[in-house]
Amino acid sequence: MKDFKNVWIFAQTQHGKLSPTAYELLTAGRQLADDLGEKLCAVLLGHNVQPFAQDLFACGADIVYVCESPALENYVDDIYAKVLADMVAQYKPNKFLLPATNLGRSLSAKTAVFVGTGLTADATEVKINKEDGQLHATRPTFGGNLMATITCAHTRPEMCSLRPMSYEKAPAKAGKKGEIISFAFNPTKHTSLAKFLEFIKSEGTGLDLSEASVIVAGGRGLGKPEGFELLKKLADRLGGAVAASRAPVDKGWIDYRYQIGLTGRTVKPKLYIACGISGQIQHMAGMSGADVIVAINKDPQAPIMQVANYAVQGDLYDVVPAMLEALK
Ligand SMILES: Cc1cc2nc3c(=O)[nH]c(=O)nc-3n(C[C@H](O)[C@H](O)[C@H](O)COP(=O)(O)OP(=O)(O)OC[C@H]3O[C@@H](n4cnc5c(N)ncnc54)[C@H](O)[C@@H]3O)c2cc1C
Repeated sequence: MKDFKNVWIFAQTQHGKLSPTAYELLTAGRQLADDLGEKLCAVLLGHNVQPFAQDLFACGADIVYVCESPALENYVDDIYAKVLADMVAQYKPNKFLLPATNLGRSLSAKTAVFVGTGLTADATEVKINKEDGQLHATRPTFGGNLMATITCAHTRPEMCSLRPMSYEKAPAKAGKKGEIISFAFNPTKHTSLAKFLEFIKSEGTGLDLSEASVIVAGGRGLGKPEGFELLKKLADRLGGAVAASRAPVDKGWIDYRYQIGLTGRTVKPKLYIACGISGQIQHMAGMSGADVIVAINKDPQAPIMQVANYAVQGDLYDVVPAMLEALK
Protein backbone atom coordinates (compact mmCIF):
# COMPACT_ATOMS: atom_id res chain seq x y z
CA MET A 1 0.00 0.00 0.00
CA LYS A 2 3.03 2.28 0.45
CA ASP A 3 3.41 2.45 -3.35
CA PHE A 4 0.17 4.42 -3.64
CA LYS A 5 0.75 8.20 -3.65
CA ASN A 6 -1.14 11.38 -4.51
CA VAL A 7 -4.74 12.50 -4.48
CA TRP A 8 -6.68 12.21 -7.76
CA ILE A 9 -9.87 13.90 -8.79
CA PHE A 10 -11.93 13.02 -11.86
CA ALA A 11 -12.55 16.18 -13.87
CA GLN A 12 -15.83 15.37 -15.59
CA THR A 13 -16.37 16.80 -19.07
CA GLN A 14 -19.45 16.40 -21.17
CA HIS A 15 -20.56 18.02 -24.42
CA GLY A 16 -17.41 20.11 -24.65
CA LYS A 17 -17.64 21.58 -21.15
CA LEU A 18 -15.80 21.02 -17.91
CA SER A 19 -18.29 20.24 -15.15
CA PRO A 20 -18.38 22.68 -12.17
CA THR A 21 -17.88 19.60 -9.98
CA ALA A 22 -14.24 19.49 -11.12
CA TYR A 23 -13.58 22.76 -9.27
CA GLU A 24 -15.39 21.49 -6.16
CA LEU A 25 -13.33 18.31 -6.14
CA LEU A 26 -10.16 20.40 -6.48
CA THR A 27 -11.10 22.18 -3.23
CA ALA A 28 -11.72 18.90 -1.40
CA GLY A 29 -8.68 17.23 -2.97
CA ARG A 30 -6.33 20.13 -2.19
CA GLN A 31 -7.08 19.83 1.52
CA LEU A 32 -6.44 16.05 1.44
CA ALA A 33 -3.22 16.46 -0.57
CA ASP A 34 -1.90 19.16 1.77
CA ASP A 35 -2.70 17.05 4.85
CA LEU A 36 -0.82 14.10 3.33
CA GLY A 37 2.02 16.17 1.86
CA GLU A 38 1.22 14.68 -1.57
CA LYS A 39 0.36 16.04 -5.01
CA LEU A 40 -3.11 16.89 -6.28
CA CYS A 41 -3.80 15.38 -9.69
CA ALA A 42 -6.77 15.65 -12.04
CA VAL A 43 -7.86 13.11 -14.66
CA LEU A 44 -9.35 14.22 -17.98
CA LEU A 45 -10.94 11.70 -20.35
CA GLY A 46 -12.58 12.62 -23.63
CA HIS A 47 -11.94 13.97 -27.09
CA ASN A 48 -10.06 17.29 -27.39
CA VAL A 49 -10.15 17.83 -23.63
CA GLN A 50 -6.51 18.72 -23.01
CA PRO A 51 -7.18 22.51 -23.14
CA PHE A 52 -9.12 22.12 -19.85
CA ALA A 53 -5.85 21.22 -18.14
CA GLN A 54 -4.92 24.91 -17.83
CA ASP A 55 -8.11 25.61 -15.83
CA LEU A 56 -7.34 22.66 -13.59
CA PHE A 57 -3.78 23.87 -12.96
CA ALA A 58 -5.04 27.39 -12.20
CA CYS A 59 -7.45 25.94 -9.63
CA GLY A 60 -4.90 23.81 -7.82
CA ALA A 61 -3.97 20.67 -9.79
CA ASP A 62 -0.23 19.87 -9.83
CA ILE A 63 -0.50 17.12 -12.46
CA VAL A 64 -3.21 16.46 -15.06
CA TYR A 65 -3.46 12.98 -16.60
CA VAL A 66 -5.09 13.16 -20.02
CA CYS A 67 -6.48 10.34 -22.13
CA GLU A 68 -7.91 11.50 -25.43
CA SER A 69 -9.61 9.56 -28.19
CA PRO A 70 -12.64 10.01 -30.49
CA ALA A 71 -13.90 6.83 -28.76
CA LEU A 72 -14.13 8.84 -25.51
CA GLU A 73 -16.14 11.70 -27.00
CA ASN A 74 -19.39 10.34 -25.55
CA TYR A 75 -19.58 8.71 -22.15
CA VAL A 76 -19.83 4.90 -22.15
CA ASP A 77 -19.24 3.61 -18.64
CA ASP A 78 -17.41 0.38 -19.56
CA ILE A 79 -14.89 2.20 -21.72
CA TYR A 80 -14.30 5.04 -19.26
CA ALA A 81 -14.00 2.66 -16.31
CA LYS A 82 -11.49 0.43 -18.14
CA VAL A 83 -9.33 3.44 -18.98
CA LEU A 84 -9.48 4.71 -15.38
CA ALA A 85 -8.69 1.27 -13.97
CA ASP A 86 -5.62 1.03 -16.22
CA MET A 87 -4.50 4.51 -15.19
CA VAL A 88 -4.88 3.55 -11.53
CA ALA A 89 -2.89 0.34 -12.09
CA GLN A 90 -0.07 2.29 -13.75
CA TYR A 91 0.15 5.41 -11.54
CA LYS A 92 -1.20 4.11 -8.21
CA PRO A 93 -3.05 7.02 -6.64
CA ASN A 94 -3.61 6.99 -2.89
CA LYS A 95 -7.06 8.63 -2.84
CA PHE A 96 -9.44 9.07 -5.77
CA LEU A 97 -12.43 11.44 -5.67
CA LEU A 98 -15.15 11.46 -8.32
CA PRO A 99 -18.30 13.59 -8.51
CA ALA A 100 -21.56 11.97 -7.39
CA THR A 101 -23.24 13.17 -10.59
CA ASN A 102 -25.25 10.64 -12.64
CA LEU A 103 -22.13 9.99 -14.71
CA GLY A 104 -19.80 9.92 -11.70
CA ARG A 105 -21.97 7.53 -9.69
CA SER A 106 -21.96 5.01 -12.51
CA LEU A 107 -18.28 5.49 -13.35
CA SER A 108 -16.99 5.38 -9.77
CA ALA A 109 -18.81 2.14 -8.96
CA LYS A 110 -17.63 0.39 -12.11
CA THR A 111 -14.05 1.62 -11.73
CA ALA A 112 -13.89 0.50 -8.10
CA VAL A 113 -14.96 -3.00 -9.15
CA PHE A 114 -12.37 -3.16 -11.96
CA VAL A 115 -9.66 -1.89 -9.59
CA GLY A 116 -10.78 -4.16 -6.73
CA THR A 117 -11.02 -1.45 -4.11
CA GLY A 118 -13.66 0.13 -1.88
CA LEU A 119 -15.85 3.10 -2.74
CA THR A 120 -17.79 5.40 -0.44
CA ALA A 121 -20.64 6.63 -2.61
CA ASP A 122 -22.34 10.00 -2.30
CA ALA A 123 -20.22 11.44 0.51
CA THR A 124 -20.68 15.01 1.68
CA GLU A 125 -17.35 15.45 3.49
CA VAL A 126 -13.87 13.95 3.19
CA LYS A 127 -10.99 14.21 5.65
CA ILE A 128 -7.62 12.63 6.28
CA ASN A 129 -7.30 10.85 9.60
CA LYS A 130 -4.08 12.34 10.98
CA GLU A 131 -3.06 9.13 12.81
CA ASP A 132 -2.96 6.70 9.89
CA GLY A 133 -3.50 8.85 6.79
CA GLN A 134 -6.71 7.03 5.92
CA LEU A 135 -9.54 8.71 4.07
CA HIS A 136 -12.59 9.33 6.24
CA ALA A 137 -15.59 9.86 3.98
CA THR A 138 -18.82 10.94 5.64
CA ARG A 139 -22.31 10.57 4.20
CA PRO A 140 -25.89 10.68 5.50
CA THR A 141 -27.46 7.32 6.28
CA PHE A 142 -30.69 5.89 7.76
CA GLY A 143 -32.81 8.43 5.94
CA GLY A 144 -30.53 11.29 6.89
CA ASN A 145 -30.92 10.72 10.62
CA LEU A 146 -27.29 9.68 11.07
CA MET A 147 -23.99 10.61 9.48
CA ALA A 148 -21.76 7.59 8.79
CA THR A 149 -18.00 7.91 8.40
CA ILE A 150 -16.71 5.15 6.14
CA THR A 151 -13.13 3.94 5.70
CA CYS A 152 -11.44 1.55 3.32
CA ALA A 153 -8.62 0.08 5.37
CA HIS A 154 -7.11 -2.69 3.25
CA THR A 155 -7.04 -1.64 -0.40
CA ARG A 156 -5.83 1.37 -2.38
CA PRO A 157 -6.80 3.75 -3.76
CA GLU A 158 -9.52 4.73 -1.33
CA MET A 159 -12.29 5.87 -3.68
CA CYS A 160 -15.16 8.20 -2.97
CA SER A 161 -17.87 9.95 -4.95
CA LEU A 162 -18.65 13.39 -3.52
CA ARG A 163 -22.03 15.05 -3.78
CA PRO A 164 -22.06 18.11 -6.05
CA MET A 165 -22.22 21.39 -4.08
CA SER A 166 -20.69 19.87 -0.96
CA TYR A 167 -17.58 22.04 -1.41
CA GLU A 168 -17.00 25.55 -2.74
CA LYS A 169 -15.34 25.82 -6.13
CA ALA A 170 -11.55 26.26 -5.97
CA PRO A 171 -10.55 29.82 -6.92
CA ALA A 172 -8.26 30.32 -9.92
CA LYS A 173 -4.72 31.63 -9.47
CA ALA A 174 -3.42 33.26 -12.63
CA GLY A 175 -0.18 31.88 -14.03
CA LYS A 176 -0.12 28.63 -12.01
CA LYS A 177 1.32 25.83 -14.11
CA GLY A 178 1.58 22.06 -13.82
CA GLU A 179 2.60 18.87 -15.58
CA ILE A 180 0.51 17.09 -18.22
CA ILE A 181 0.91 13.31 -18.46
CA SER A 182 -0.69 11.67 -21.50
CA PHE A 183 -2.13 8.20 -21.24
CA ALA A 184 -2.62 6.20 -24.43
CA PHE A 185 -6.09 4.97 -25.31
CA ASN A 186 -6.01 1.26 -26.23
CA PRO A 187 -8.77 0.51 -28.78
CA THR A 188 -8.43 -3.27 -28.44
CA LYS A 189 -8.61 -3.23 -24.64
CA HIS A 190 -10.79 -0.20 -23.82
CA THR A 191 -13.97 -1.62 -25.31
CA SER A 192 -17.62 -2.10 -24.43
CA LEU A 193 -20.50 -4.30 -25.49
CA ALA A 194 -22.66 -1.19 -25.22
CA LYS A 195 -22.64 1.28 -28.08
CA PHE A 196 -23.38 4.99 -27.86
CA LEU A 197 -26.23 5.85 -30.25
CA GLU A 198 -27.41 9.35 -29.41
CA PHE A 199 -27.72 11.80 -26.53
CA ILE A 200 -31.26 12.95 -25.79
CA LYS A 201 -31.38 16.02 -23.57
CA SER A 202 -34.24 15.99 -21.07
CA GLU A 203 -36.60 18.85 -21.72
CA GLY A 204 -36.31 21.11 -18.73
CA THR A 205 -38.00 24.38 -18.10
CA GLY A 206 -36.26 27.31 -16.55
CA LEU A 207 -32.77 27.53 -15.07
CA ASP A 208 -30.52 24.68 -14.09
CA LEU A 209 -30.94 24.26 -10.32
CA SER A 210 -27.23 23.93 -9.71
CA GLU A 211 -26.64 27.35 -11.27
CA ALA A 212 -29.65 29.21 -9.84
CA SER A 213 -28.83 31.82 -7.21
CA VAL A 214 -32.53 32.04 -6.26
CA ILE A 215 -34.71 28.95 -5.77
CA VAL A 216 -38.44 28.97 -5.06
CA ALA A 217 -39.42 25.51 -3.79
CA GLY A 218 -42.88 24.08 -3.23
CA GLY A 219 -44.06 21.27 -0.98
CA ARG A 220 -47.20 19.33 -0.17
CA GLY A 221 -48.67 22.58 1.13
CA LEU A 222 -49.24 23.66 -2.48
CA GLY A 223 -52.18 21.26 -2.43
CA LYS A 224 -52.28 20.87 -6.24
CA PRO A 225 -49.87 20.71 -9.19
CA GLU A 226 -51.01 24.11 -10.48
CA GLY A 227 -49.40 25.65 -7.39
CA PHE A 228 -46.06 25.38 -9.17
CA GLU A 229 -47.30 27.85 -11.82
CA LEU A 230 -47.60 30.48 -9.08
CA LEU A 231 -44.11 29.63 -7.79
CA LYS A 232 -42.76 29.86 -11.35
CA LYS A 233 -44.05 33.44 -11.54
CA LEU A 234 -42.15 34.34 -8.38
CA ALA A 235 -39.03 32.49 -9.57
CA ASP A 236 -39.16 34.28 -12.94
CA ARG A 237 -39.58 37.66 -11.24
CA LEU A 238 -36.48 36.97 -9.11
CA GLY A 239 -34.45 35.42 -11.94
CA GLY A 240 -34.50 32.07 -10.21
CA ALA A 241 -35.59 28.45 -10.62
CA VAL A 242 -38.42 26.31 -9.25
CA ALA A 243 -37.76 23.23 -7.09
CA ALA A 244 -39.71 20.88 -4.83
CA SER A 245 -39.70 18.72 -1.76
CA ARG A 246 -40.26 15.00 -2.21
CA ALA A 247 -43.97 15.03 -1.41
CA PRO A 248 -45.09 16.75 -4.64
CA VAL A 249 -42.63 14.62 -6.64
CA ASP A 250 -44.17 11.46 -5.17
CA LYS A 251 -47.60 12.79 -6.06
CA GLY A 252 -46.53 13.30 -9.68
CA TRP A 253 -47.04 17.09 -9.55
CA ILE A 254 -43.47 17.79 -10.69
CA ASP A 255 -40.59 15.78 -12.13
CA TYR A 256 -38.02 14.12 -9.86
CA ARG A 257 -35.15 16.22 -11.24
CA TYR A 258 -36.56 19.20 -9.29
CA GLN A 259 -36.43 17.38 -5.95
CA ILE A 260 -34.17 18.89 -3.30
CA GLY A 261 -32.91 16.78 -0.43
CA LEU A 262 -31.24 13.61 0.63
CA THR A 263 -32.50 11.57 -2.31
CA GLY A 264 -32.66 14.57 -4.61
CA ARG A 265 -30.31 17.44 -5.40
CA THR A 266 -28.11 19.47 -3.08
CA VAL A 267 -28.24 23.20 -3.78
CA LYS A 268 -26.50 26.27 -2.38
CA PRO A 269 -28.39 29.31 -3.70
CA LYS A 270 -28.13 32.82 -2.29
CA LEU A 271 -31.88 32.76 -1.56
CA TYR A 272 -34.13 29.72 -0.95
CA ILE A 273 -37.86 30.37 -0.59
CA ALA A 274 -39.66 27.30 0.80
CA CYS A 275 -43.42 27.44 0.23
CA GLY A 276 -45.60 24.90 2.03
CA ILE A 277 -42.62 22.74 2.99
CA SER A 278 -42.41 21.46 6.57
CA GLY A 279 -38.61 21.11 6.57
CA GLN A 280 -38.02 17.47 7.41
CA ILE A 281 -34.38 16.51 7.90
CA GLN A 282 -34.25 14.76 4.52
CA HIS A 283 -35.28 17.97 2.78
CA MET A 284 -32.93 20.16 4.80
CA ALA A 285 -30.03 17.87 3.82
CA GLY A 286 -30.28 19.38 0.36
CA MET A 287 -30.78 23.07 1.05
CA SER A 288 -29.41 24.03 4.46
CA GLY A 289 -26.33 25.52 2.74
CA ALA A 290 -28.43 28.35 1.24
CA ASP A 291 -27.25 31.82 2.29
CA VAL A 292 -30.74 33.06 3.17
CA ILE A 293 -33.80 30.86 3.78
CA VAL A 294 -37.32 32.26 3.63
CA ALA A 295 -40.09 29.92 4.80
CA ILE A 296 -43.76 30.49 4.06
CA ASN A 297 -45.91 28.16 6.12
CA LYS A 298 -49.27 28.16 7.86
CA ASP A 299 -47.77 26.36 10.85
CA PRO A 300 -45.39 28.44 12.98
CA GLN A 301 -44.12 25.22 14.60
CA ALA A 302 -42.98 23.65 11.31
CA PRO A 303 -39.26 22.77 11.56
CA ILE A 304 -38.39 24.94 8.57
CA MET A 305 -39.71 28.00 10.45
CA GLN A 306 -37.05 27.39 13.10
CA VAL A 307 -34.11 27.39 10.64
CA ALA A 308 -35.40 30.11 8.31
CA ASN A 309 -33.81 33.57 8.35
CA TYR A 310 -37.30 34.93 7.56
CA ALA A 311 -40.29 32.87 8.70
CA VAL A 312 -43.55 34.09 7.18
CA GLN A 313 -46.59 32.60 8.88
CA GLY A 314 -49.51 32.45 6.46
CA ASP A 315 -51.18 30.78 3.51
CA LEU A 316 -48.78 30.66 0.58
CA TYR A 317 -51.68 31.50 -1.74
CA ASP A 318 -51.95 34.86 0.07
CA VAL A 319 -48.24 35.47 0.70
CA VAL A 320 -46.80 34.65 -2.74
CA PRO A 321 -49.24 36.89 -4.69
CA ALA A 322 -48.53 39.66 -2.15
CA MET A 323 -44.79 39.23 -2.78
CA LEU A 324 -45.37 39.38 -6.54
CA GLU A 325 -47.40 42.54 -6.10
CA ALA A 326 -44.72 44.11 -3.92
CA LEU A 327 -42.00 43.15 -6.43
CA LYS A 328 -43.77 45.08 -9.17
C1 LIG B 1 -35.03 7.80 3.02
C2 LIG B 1 -35.82 9.06 2.81
C3 LIG B 1 -35.35 9.97 1.89
C4 LIG B 1 -36.05 11.17 1.69
N1 LIG B 1 -35.57 12.08 0.79
C5 LIG B 1 -36.20 13.26 0.67
C6 LIG B 1 -35.67 14.28 -0.20
O1 LIG B 1 -34.66 14.10 -0.87
N2 LIG B 1 -36.31 15.47 -0.24
C7 LIG B 1 -37.44 15.73 0.49
O2 LIG B 1 -37.98 16.84 0.38
N3 LIG B 1 -37.97 14.77 1.27
C8 LIG B 1 -37.38 13.56 1.37
N4 LIG B 1 -37.95 12.61 2.16
C9 LIG B 1 -39.30 12.83 2.69
C10 LIG B 1 -39.35 13.70 3.93
O3 LIG B 1 -39.17 12.92 5.08
C11 LIG B 1 -40.70 14.43 4.02
O4 LIG B 1 -41.73 13.47 3.99
C12 LIG B 1 -40.95 15.43 2.90
O5 LIG B 1 -39.85 16.29 2.79
C13 LIG B 1 -42.21 16.24 3.25
O6 LIG B 1 -42.49 17.13 2.20
P1 LIG B 1 -43.25 18.47 2.52
O7 LIG B 1 -42.49 19.29 3.50
O8 LIG B 1 -43.55 19.08 1.20
O9 LIG B 1 -44.64 17.93 3.12
P2 LIG B 1 -45.20 18.01 4.61
O10 LIG B 1 -44.23 17.50 5.58
O11 LIG B 1 -46.55 17.38 4.56
O12 LIG B 1 -45.36 19.57 4.88
C14 LIG B 1 -46.28 20.40 4.24
C15 LIG B 1 -46.21 21.76 4.93
O13 LIG B 1 -47.03 22.68 4.22
C16 LIG B 1 -47.68 23.52 5.17
N5 LIG B 1 -48.86 24.03 4.48
C17 LIG B 1 -49.98 23.36 4.14
N6 LIG B 1 -50.82 24.15 3.43
C18 LIG B 1 -50.18 25.37 3.33
C19 LIG B 1 -50.52 26.61 2.71
N7 LIG B 1 -51.65 26.76 1.99
N8 LIG B 1 -49.67 27.65 2.83
C20 LIG B 1 -48.51 27.53 3.55
N9 LIG B 1 -48.13 26.37 4.15
C21 LIG B 1 -48.97 25.29 4.03
C22 LIG B 1 -47.94 22.64 6.36
O14 LIG B 1 -48.08 23.40 7.54
C23 LIG B 1 -46.69 21.75 6.38
O15 LIG B 1 -45.69 22.30 7.20
C24 LIG B 1 -37.25 11.42 2.39
C25 LIG B 1 -37.71 10.47 3.32
C26 LIG B 1 -37.00 9.32 3.52
C27 LIG B 1 -37.50 8.31 4.53
